[in-house]
Amino acid sequence: MTEQEVDIRKKLGTLTYETDAEENAHITVIQEICARCPHYLCIAGCPASCFKFIENKMVFRYEDCIECGTCYLMCDQGSVKWNFPQGSFGVKFELG
Ligand code: SF4
Ligand code: SF4
Repeated sequence: MTEQEVDIRKKLGTLTYETDAEENAHITVIQEICARCPHYLCIAGCPASCFKFIENKMVFRYEDCIECGTCYLMCDQGSVKWNFPQGSFGVKFELG
């Protein structure tokens, strides 16, 4: 890594979150669609590693989301339902 490159994992460590209840998750995915996805671009594209495909199931962690919108743009299969978190919930960028 050169001096100019940013270590995203270190930057993510400076963030804090106010996490809403799971039933209020601001992003959801449809398992049946993910199960037949031809490319899984969300896994490579999410800077916060919120998407993982484990034992034939998409495991999505809304809690770690930094609200960048990349998954919404990359998922051309109609699986991602995307909103900003409600109220004061979600990521805090004071130190990021
Ligand atoms: S790109 Fe969309 S359909 Fe494919 S695995 Fe990701 S969320 Fe699911
Ligand atoms: S909005 Fe960004 S950080 Fe959040 S899940 Fe999608 S790609 Fe990951």
